[in-house]
Amino acid sequence: MRVLIIEDEKRLASTLQDLLELNGYTADVCHDGEAGLDNALSAIYDVILLDVMLPKLDGFSVLRRLRAAGNATPVLMLTARSEVTDRVEGLDCGADYYLTKPFEPRELLACIRALTRRQPELRNTDALEYGDLRLEKSSFTLSCGDRSLRLSRKEFDIMELLMLNRELVITKENLLLKIWGYESDAEDNNVEVYISFLRKKLEHLHSGVKIKTIRMVGYCLEKP
Ligand code: CA
Repeated sequence: MRVLIIEDEKRLASTLQDLLELNGYTADVCHDGEAGLDNALSAIYDVILLDVMLPKLDGFSVLRRLRAAGNATPVLMLTARSEVTDRVEGLDCGADYYLTKPFEPRELLACIRALTRRQPELRNTDALEYGDLRLEKSSFTLSCGDRSLRLSRKEFDIMELLMLNRELVITKENLLLKIWGYESDAEDNNVEVYISFLRKKLEHLHSGVKIKTIRMVGYCLEKP
């Protein structure tokens, strides 16, 4: 598996490269958008990690040109903020997934595995699946069998993060950072409130999936 990292923050780029190589991937690094696009167009990569703010050519432009050239390599956008507009723009340009910085190494690895293993599912539909649940990204709909309901923006973001990470534990701290952002004054109990909304919705859907609380740490999904 060959991964291209397009990231101008040199320390982060080299940390990512080390992490990937330790995990058996071959990883190449480009520090600006133009070099990144040139390399990406070679089509030798299985996944591309793409930063948004880049010198010479920004991440969205890299992605647009890559897709315009007919290259369908899965792209994982690395966004610095959790702003909705970034995500929407990224997905509109043809990104397969986005990860908000800072992220946990295992979260990144899980994303890469998902993108390489389950490419067709992730690329041809906009839904995530876990157990008996299905989450539609375009309509914010969570469904189980023939029951479905719409989630609020925050509920959707939390559910998406949980489903993407599956049985991995997401810390409350990480949830706060990713869903509410650095500048927010949201606290742990905001997370708890939304988790309880989601639990009610899972019950309403008659889903077998549970959001498990790992005391003093965070949450993860569990299926029967
Ligand atoms: Ca950057």
